Amino acid sequence: MPKTLRKPDLQKLALALPKIAPLPTAPAPSLFDSADKVADDTLLKVREDLGECTRCKLHKHRHTIVFGDGSPKAELVFVGEGPGADEDAQGLPFVGRAGKLLTQMIEAMGLQRKDVYICNVVKCRPPENRTPEDDEVGTCSPFLFRQLDVIAPKVIVCLGAVAAKTLLKTNRGISQFRGQWLDYRSSKLMATYHPAYLLRNPNAKGEVWKDLQKVMALLGLHAKKGKPA
Ligand code: SF4
Repeated sequence: MPKTLRKPDLQKLALALPKIAPLPTAPAPSLFDSADKVADDTLLKVREDLGECTRCKLHKHRHTIVFGDGSPKAELVFVGEGPGADEDAQGLPFVGRAGKLLTQMIEAMGLQRKDVYICNVVKCRPPENRTPEDDEVGTCSPFLFRQLDVIAPKVIVCLGAVAAKTLLKTNRGISQFRGQWLDYRSSKLMATYHPAYLLRNPNAKGEVWKDLQKVMALLGLHAKKGKPA
């Protein structure tokens, strides 16, 4: 038989129990909101899993992990190589000089940065902006693959050889397949030159614009400002 509590014991027990806060009454999310949240939460999960990563040696000199930025429901994702000094300082991809050129390119396609998603193969800045090494790419790229799985864009534009080689798992030079439609899982993939390369070689801008026009045609986009300056 359990011992029966007397009235004074019950009063003591009631005082000892923590007060339970009433449940918040939030309005039910719309279908649109909840779809957004699912995609967002999953990208958040990838970011949480990355944590304050020290998996490869690039963590030693970084200030900020640059995970990615933009819409989790983007039809178009740009993948670059890795953060530079400005990105390392701000924690956002493509915000330096090359980033400004990429923004011009996106706007010339009739889009804004918030309409697309932008990320890199490695999330920490390589010292002196050197090319990421194979072991660094191998360690970090699974997080990129997960980001792309979550977003499942119609089109991925690889900016430069590192992104293209990582996603296509090839050692072929980018000039051999630049401007051609290729496949990455369920997405179409277009490899083109990195905006930093265009800053050094402005004559190549026309080739990149031709590649982006193919992307626009596939996505049904119309140029708003014409060829980027
Ligand atoms: Fe981790 Fe990627 Fe940074 Fe390497 S580059 S430390 S794997 S987040």
